[in-house]
Amino acid sequence: MSDLNKRYDGMVIGAGIAGMQAALDLAEQGFQVLLVEKDPSIGGVMVGLNKVFPTLDCSSCICTPRMAEAAHHPNITIQTYTEVLNVDRNGPGFNVKLLKKPRYVDEDTCIGCSKCELECPVLVPHEFDYGLGSRRAVYIPHSNAIPQVATLDVEHCTFCGKCAKVCPADCFIYDQQPEEIEIEVGAVIVASGLQITPMGAKAEYNGDKLPNVVNPLGMERIQSSNGPYGTVLRPSDGKIPKKIAYVQCAGSRDKTIGVSYCSRVCCMYALKQALLTTHYIHGVEITIYHMDIRAFGKGYEQFYRRAMDEGIKIVKGKVAKIDETDNQDLIIRVEHLDEGGRVEEARYDMVVLSQGLMPAWKPGSALGIDVGEDGFFESVNPKIKPTLSTMEGVFLAGVSAGPKDIPDSIVEAGAAAMEAANYLQRTTKPKVTA
Ligand SMILES: Cc1cc2nc3c(=O)[nH]c(=O)nc-3n(C[C@H](O)[C@H](O)[C@H](O)COP(=O)(O)OP(=O)(O)OC[C@H]3O[C@@H](n4cnc5c(N)ncnc54)[C@H](O)[C@@H]3O)c2cc1C
Repeated sequence: MSDLNKRYDGMVIGAGIAGMQAALDLAEQGFQVLLVEKDPSIGGVMVGLNKVFPTLDCSSCICTPRMAEAAHHPNITIQTYTEVLNVDRNGPGFNVKLLKKPRYVDEDTCIGCSKCELECPVLVPHEFDYGLGSRRAVYIPHSNAIPQVATLDVEHCTFCGKCAKVCPADCFIYDQQPEEIEIEVGAVIVASGLQITPMGAKAEYNGDKLPNVVNPLGMERIQSSNGPYGTVLRPSDGKIPKKIAYVQCAGSRDKTIGVSYCSRVCCMYALKQALLTTHYIHGVEITIYHMDIRAFGKGYEQFYRRAMDEGIKIVKGKVAKIDETDNQDLIIRVEHLDEGGRVEEARYDMVVLSQGLMPAWKPGSALGIDVGEDGFFESVNPKIKPTLSTMEGVFLAGVSAGPKDIPDSIVEAGAAAMEAANYLQRTTKPKVTA
């Protein structure tokens, strides 16, 4: 049974970097915050990234302290593996219905020892590694996960019972049921973040068919020392790639796939990954095919120049097709835009498709705020008050409101928390305790 309070001042939906920051900023002002995350762990996309542009700092080294801070803050309650079913206005606040999904494990008694994982005989492609590595049917998502609690994936479990037998805390509950929870909140911050455009969005790139055509979040994991291979290898045969291509705007700026906007981060993450790969593989040759490079942030243009200085080839070219050879190398057919449209076929060991960003959550009437033509949540006043949604008391932070990088997500989260605090002061006048 859930031990949640009946009422919280603020509810933050999504515990990526924006949601965690918004929750912390609101909690620091003395408000009681419920941070709701649909996945088994908090951390969002950032905790799975390798390093961040333009500083090349280790991503999880920045993200995990934030996760720990949110988890230990006395004014924040974290509710993972939980979906938001409905948010209904009730005066200035809201009635909220949540669905706590069953982990088939008692969260309070699980000690995160992983003995069940080691015993489980079932291997499943791991979501955290974008299917490139595997996990067990009972699993803790990754070593930095919060909470460090096992989740049983009943879709793949064979119910052999080995996990329960080996569990020293006796925490398995095979008949655990989903639980609907009803609470009241004074304000809502939506920080539901991103998904990348589907790998099959452009059929001619065969991104959903060819193993060596990799998605950019998968490439982050491949580059991570705690990733599926521990070093950069190509998925089909574990060979060290010597020639890698990036295809820009593979899932953005293209009306035919319904994503006509620029996703803002793809040029920079491609440059980052390309540069890092040259540090990991001696002599690797990397080409980035693009329409134009957009390096808009502080230090970003300099980073772009650095990548070129360190040997990354930046080619203005439109990739028309990607096919596979018998040994699973890839042939790219490209039209060189700076050379009068010359068409070339070039061979690569691996190709990364720079997919764009799409909203992760489309709540429809469950939340009742407007979305724009691009599918991201709409702001009533994008210039002056970008974090205000179209419903009073509901605020927006991070990529839920449109594509952006980590610094912008964090700044927006702070602004959303401040707007939510103002709203709470105005409408409920809570006693500020901290
Ligand atoms: C390949 C790649 C590399 C990148 N590299 C960089 C980089 O180096 N530097 C940089 O600045 N930016 C980078 N970015 C951008 C960065 O990932 C985003 O700016 C950042 O993750 C946005 O944070 P967020 O909290 O808004 O969203 P997310 O990180 O997506 O977090 C959203 C959270 O909300 C949860 N959620 C979604 N829907 C619900 C729901 N209905 N209920 C409850 N929870 C929900 C999700 O599970 C997730 O945990 C990169 C992006 C990509 C794709």
